[in-house]
Amino acid sequence: MYDPNNVFARILRGEIPCKKVAEDEHTLAFHDINPQAPVHVLVIPKGAYLSWDDFSARATDAEQAALTRMVGRVAREAGLAETGYRVLANTGRDGHQDVPHLHLHVLGGRPLGPMLQRPRD
Ligand code: 5GP
Repeated sequence: MYDPNNVFARILRGEIPCKKVAEDEHTLAFHDINPQAPVHVLVIPKGAYLSWDDFSARATDAEQAALTRMVGRVAREAGLAETGYRVLANTGRDGHQDVPHLHLHVLGGRPLGPMLQRPRD
């Protein structure tokens, strides 16, 4: 069940501030509050989608295209197209998703290392 009081829903309603990077009809991009790289932008759909699983199943083609294009735009405008970057969507329990509104992390600005670290014992 989608929780309309999650922090990103509150950002979308303007109840919590964010440092906006870009916006269009279907998406909002803003800086992560706790950046893990020199560039760390979150791209979210404006619709009430819990996760990648939910979004990929239910979102309209226009919403899905807008999200994809916004990720590319954000990365290009941040100067990452040449040096490279990482896009990731933590999904559900095993994916360690903390905020229950779909968000794509766009990370770059330094070498990011291997994709996954071994879990600590
Ligand atoms: P997750 O672990 O769900 O993939 O990532 C959630 C992300 O949201 C984290 O990187 C965290 O720093 C970011 N975050 C959590 N609360 C806020 C907030 O209020 N504002 C912004 N800009 N980012 C947030």
